Amino acid sequence: VKFVYDFTEGNKDLKDLLGGKGANLAEMTNLGLPVPPGFTITTEACKVYLDSGEEPAALRDEVSAHLAALEEGMGKKLGQADNPLLVSVRSGAKFSMPGMMDTVLNIGLSDKSVQGLAKQAGDERFAWDSYRRLIQMFGKTVLGVEGDLFEDALDAAKKAKKVTVDTELDAADLKKLVTKFKKIVKTEAGRDFPQDPREQMDLAIKAVFDSWNGERAKLYRRQERIPHDLGTAVNVCSMVFGNLGPDSGTGVAFTRDPASGHQGVYGDYLQNAQGEDVVAGIRNTVPLAELEQIDKKSYDRLMQIMETLENHYKDLCDIEFTIERGQLWMLQTRVGKRTAGAAFRIATQLVDQGLIDEAEALQRVTGAQLAQLMFPRFDEQAKVEQLGRGIAASPGAAVGKAVFDSYTAVKWSRSGEKVILIRRETNPDDLDGMIAAEGILTSRGGKTSHAAVVARGMGKTCVCGAEELEVDTKRRRLTAPGGVVVEEGDLISIDGSSGKVYLDEVPVVPSPVVEYFEGRMHAGADDADELVEAVHRIMAFADRKRRLRVRANADNAEDALRARRFGAQGIGLCRTEHMFLGDRRELVERLILADTETEREDSLKELLPLQKKDFVELFEAMDGLPVTIRLLDPPLHEFLPDITELSVRVALAEARQEPHENELRLLQAVHRLHEQNPMLGLRGVRLGLVIPGLFTMQVRAIAEAAAERKAAKGDPRAEIMIPLVGTVQELEIVREEADRVIAEVEEATGARLKLAIGTMIELPRAALTAGQIAEAAEFFSFGTNDLTQTVWGFSRDDVEASFFTAYLEKGIFGVSPFETIDRDGVGSLVKAAAQAGRATRPDLKLGVCGEHGGDPESVHFFHEVGLDYVSCSPFRIPVARLEAGRAAS
Ligand code: PEP
Ligand code: MG
Repeated sequence: VKFVYDFTEGNKDLKDLLGGKGANLAEMTNLGLPVPPGFTITTEACKVYLDSGEEPAALRDEVSAHLAALEEGMGKKLGQADNPLLVSVRSGAKFSMPGMMDTVLNIGLSDKSVQGLAKQAGDERFAWDSYRRLIQMFGKTVLGVEGDLFEDALDAAKKAKKVTVDTELDAADLKKLVTKFKKIVKTEAGRDFPQDPREQMDLAIKAVFDSWNGERAKLYRRQERIPHDLGTAVNVCSMVFGNLGPDSGTGVAFTRDPASGHQGVYGDYLQNAQGEDVVAGIRNTVPLAELEQIDKKSYDRLMQIMETLENHYKDLCDIEFTIERGQLWMLQTRVGKRTAGAAFRIATQLVDQGLIDEAEALQRVTGAQLAQLMFPRFDEQAKVEQLGRGIAASPGAAVGKAVFDSYTAVKWSRSGEKVILIRRETNPDDLDGMIAAEGILTSRGGKTSHAAVVARGMGKTCVCGAEELEVDTKRRRLTAPGGVVVEEGDLISIDGSSGKVYLDEVPVVPSPVVEYFEGRMHAGADDADELVEAVHRIMAFADRKRRLRVRANADNAEDALRARRFGAQGIGLCRTEHMFLGDRRELVERLILADTETEREDSLKELLPLQKKDFVELFEAMDGLPVTIRLLDPPLHEFLPDITELSVRVALAEARQEPHENELRLLQAVHRLHEQNPMLGLRGVRLGLVIPGLFTMQVRAIAEAAAERKAAKGDPRAEIMIPLVGTVQELEIVREEADRVIAEVEEATGARLKLAIGTMIELPRAALTAGQIAEAAEFFSFGTNDLTQTVWGFSRDDVEASFFTAYLEKGIFGVSPFETIDRDGVGSLVKAAAQAGRATRPDLKLGVCGEHGGDPESVHFFHEVGLDYVSCSPFRIPVARLEAGRAAS
């Protein structure tokens, strides 16, 4: 295998091997853009190193060969005393992990070559400043020296000279500082700072490999669900300098606004600085547009390159660049992160520009982003006290108690508090605080600062660069321009869409996207409507593409109507047990506990008209669309009085010598029916078979309701669904009785009802014998909640709170199997059952109504295995429609 690729050898599709940065540097090189020459060490080399603790044997020679070629091309040698080649060594994984891994700049400088650099650049101060940066960065990241020691020494040097910024230190000061830094390295690391440039490079490469497994990096990967076994590539790139004077500088840019999608000039520029200064938000940048005044030639070239990149990648790109004495260099590009709203807008903008087609547009957005856009926002009518305003870095409306450090954020959120993390600026050490917080507020840094980039990646609300707010982290307080002081624990609200910061809790209102789905908002001109327009168009693309139909889990007319507005094509699951809560619970209780035939029949007689009315309303709301009604499936204990409570009542009555015959009788019955594992007990079809008349009553109610709707010229399309079937015999018995009742109602009303009868597949045995079950079923609906519970043997009510955290942490699964379908286990049963069912009955209708029906990843799976529809809660319908469209394109 080959472990090293020159930038001229790779391309953008090799991200697995070269990492995102390396692949895109290669792509830009091949596009003829000005990229400083260099090479990339592959993720494969990193994996070998991480697995074995040693670099692959061939790596050293390959690096030597590529370095020699680089030196040849540049006409100078790494660390050469009179004319040194300097390189940067940068990490670069497949997925961007901002600031999580290591980078070392200025490799090749030594006591000797620093003189050569000074001569070469004609700038002694610059050379010594570069050298002290190398020792500092190398000391910290490669040799593990505490970074503060260097910072403190730098501060001391400034103090001694009575200056405040490091640019005021001259060559002599920096020379002294280098001596000091070398001493720090010697004391702390127990070795001299290496003078051999090749040794510097090799150690830096190893340090970058190691940084893959740093704590920060691991936490970030868990949060972002990035696999831990990918490894990072390492980019060795010849240095260009943005700190060679006022005609030099460094910046970041977006080809369009990552918050709104609008085209224009977006980015930040920092004159006379090195790249890391911008990302860290240490010095204040100027808007990119000002570069036009500073250096028109470079500005024009940059604009041209951005257009080339956008046309080439056919997407928003972000860019890091450096200008060295008027010469523009591209240091990085990638398809840029963006907010959810911008993703929708950009996708439609690119379609309008003719750069991508509808199918590709669907790949540019996700169901998760759509879900994010459906969150509520702050009520603009609310009376609020605005504290100030920063940059709208990541949208959303967040309310919480002010905290000023990550530790407190984590501690308070663990005890159930909602917190807003307030910092002057964030750095990678703040990561767990950012995860714990509802939102993040900083007083410094732009749209490309650490806080902004990381928050956008996490989908977390963020306002950054609110410079008018004075943040004092030591005293844990924030002071607004008007003099209002926010102390730790005070409530504040931040709006990541407008950048506004408010005192106290601001009430929230529904999002415009939800208003649109509800039919209360239509396309128009202002900012919210532009988003609605984009969502409207993307949904139309998805609806045109998708093969899966989308139904709703809904039990009443109100939910059914909402589901219809959201695009539901029917009801996939009406849980009739939800109709028996409240007042009617007692009727069911009486039915279950009935001792005599008459008692039972009385309660059934009372239930029938109530049920019928429920169904008439539902059929009316879903007129013309299928409505799957599931017969009663209660875990029995949900319908009976609590055994402990009842025992207490009986004991009390006994002690007070009050009459308690009824309670006693109830208690005895409850004891008789008490189950250790109610979820595996008398529920579903079992209940229907054991309690005579129950299912008969429900089928009659469905049939009579359908007949009534027909008589009213409606178009009811009822489907009767039997839950928790394990064997075809159960279904046959229920079916025979149901057919009889339906025929009776048809006879009595003269209506032709055409009621389909089918079953849920939610037990492994049902899945395994699906071929037989299909003999008696006109449709299957996979109940993946129970199927997951029974296939894994996980109690669905208990495990997520008990040991799933440990399982997730150990990486046994990346996400709960109750949330996303377990393709290999539960999924393979679904697939096999679907095939077996269709083999028996080719026109068998197949759907899913477990929670997975509204989960983006699971929707793709159900599409792949050829189901006809997914059914999910009304609010998830738009997400399911979108993902079904994405799956089909
Ligand atoms: C299921 O088990 O997936 C299902 C939809 O039924 P319930 O959640 O009501 O048990
Ligand atoms: Mg179930």
